[in-house]
Amino acid sequence: MYRDKTCGELRLSDAGKHVTLSGWVQRTRKLGGMTFVALRDRYGITQVVFNQEKDGALFDAANALGREYVVQMTGIVAERESKNSNMPTGEIEIIADGIKVLNKSEVPPFTIEDDTDGGDDLRMKFRYLDLRRNCVKKNLELRHRMAFEIRRYLDSKGFLEIETPILVKSTPEGARDFVVPSRMNPGEFYALPQSPQLFKQLLMVSGYDRYFQIAKCFRDEDLRADRQPEFTQIDCEMSFVEQEDVIEMFEGLVKHIFKYVKNIDFTEPFQRMTWNDAMRLYGSDKPDLRFGMQFVELTDLVKGKGFSVMDNAELTVGICAPGCADYTRKQLDQLTDFVKRPQTGAKGLVWVKIEPDGSIKSTVGKFFSEDELKDWAKRMNANPGDLLLIMSGDKMKVRKQLCDLRLEMGERLGLRDKNVFAPLWVIDFPLFEWDEETQRYYAMHHPFTSPNPEDIPLLDSDTGNVRATAYDIVVNGTELGGGSIRIHDSKLQDKMFELLGFTPERAHEQFGFLMNAFKYGAPPHGGLALGFDRFVSILAGLDTIRDVIAFPKNNSGRDVMNESPSPIDDSQLEELNLTVTLPKEK
Ligand code: ASP
Repeated sequence: MYRDKTCGELRLSDAGKHVTLSGWVQRTRKLGGMTFVALRDRYGITQVVFNQEKDGALFDAANALGREYVVQMTGIVAERESKNSNMPTGEIEIIADGIKVLNKSEVPPFTIEDDTDGGDDLRMKFRYLDLRRNCVKKNLELRHRMAFEIRRYLDSKGFLEIETPILVKSTPEGARDFVVPSRMNPGEFYALPQSPQLFKQLLMVSGYDRYFQIAKCFRDEDLRADRQPEFTQIDCEMSFVEQEDVIEMFEGLVKHIFKYVKNIDFTEPFQRMTWNDAMRLYGSDKPDLRFGMQFVELTDLVKGKGFSVMDNAELTVGICAPGCADYTRKQLDQLTDFVKRPQTGAKGLVWVKIEPDGSIKSTVGKFFSEDELKDWAKRMNANPGDLLLIMSGDKMKVRKQLCDLRLEMGERLGLRDKNVFAPLWVIDFPLFEWDEETQRYYAMHHPFTSPNPEDIPLLDSDTGNVRATAYDIVVNGTELGGGSIRIHDSKLQDKMFELLGFTPERAHEQFGFLMNAFKYGAPPHGGLALGFDRFVSILAGLDTIRDVIAFPKNNSGRDVMNESPSPIDDSQLEELNLTVTLPKEK
């Protein structure tokens, strides 16, 4: 028997018991004739004491231990003299009477502490050691708890968890596919699923009216921001539902998770906002509602006063930063630099200070009278002491730029508290998105999303303004997930493919199996998928999903621990009928 207790469970009430623990040596501390070993396992840390006077040989053995040695220790639980209230086991220690080294360890390349000395790259290379750290382990425990509660909730609602294939057909709509060569079918490839979308729709045709899956998805995208080439979705689909049914069911799921995992009760329905309003008021389809600072449009007030930047702009729009009129020149210059950085790409920033005495200071005093600027302030509901930050340009671009600035101001003013959660449904997304480069429409969500029935007559005449029956759930400025009511009528689906520029032949080649299935009684259906990694990271208060994935990839899509991707043997290539041509070195 290696152990009868864990390193996290002994309390004062256990005093006097003889116990056996196994774990890793966190640290040893020598104090006169005593050596204290902090023994760690998944459950916590327990202090084990070795007394030179009591047993010299045992004392020497304890002093010979190195960090991260795997050891078994036995002894009697005793009350500690100097208690440590920061540790759950801090009231006791083990007076050792035995020690056995189960395995030695080399000195780890970084300390196994929350506050480690190891940099990112090093920790990823030795991820198995990184995973020993409490702060990383906590995230995986949270992930487990959430997966468990998701299954509990969905099971209680009659959902069946059904696995769908990982080797699927490549359908180049959407992101780029990862592909897998087929040895048995020379020259042919599977793709890894970007999501189980088509399979879950087929399951609806098969009558499994409530499906879910905690599903691995794969997308070969450039890994900007917070992306991983493989990630996990809580993928769901339901039959005989309308948008309202889906929203209600999964709002229930999100509330369940917050309640049972975070002990946070959302008693009110989540806020809802149309895509149009989200863009107009926050410049984003995933607004962070933990704070206000809504956009206020000023275009009509600013034109025709000889300030060409505003005269020529499609949109002039601003936010009012409360209490920021005391910003120094340097701080204002920083904000201007912020909006000019390449990621944001604005040309400049206009500011107007409403001084505490009500007088106005601004960068555009040359073009606008004090009264005119006061009109701006009035429209923006500004009070003395506030700062107006205003930008001009093409509508969509300037909204995105001001959105960046709004988030930055929220950050600066401490309004983006990680312990505050502001969930929101964004609804009424456009069905299509125009792409200038390829001069064609793309599906904003995916080609199976149903148009809003009211807008079906506009499909040909006003394509760009047709609304989808699609919805996203957003928490704190992050898209947690999204979905839609699907098209279940094959004629409408054909029309959709036509508008997306598919010839009937190509549509058939790629999605023929779905279109065929739809000939055999497809029920009305809809669903959504939530980003599981993201959901965990939001609840963990983390900025990146990498920290909630046991073995993540780095920004170049590499696993630096096992050094993949990697070349394969010539014999493997031959078997697969593949020849590799490497790009020429530049
Ligand atoms: N399959 C979709 C996605 O991955 C989600 C859905 O529509 O259910 O975004």
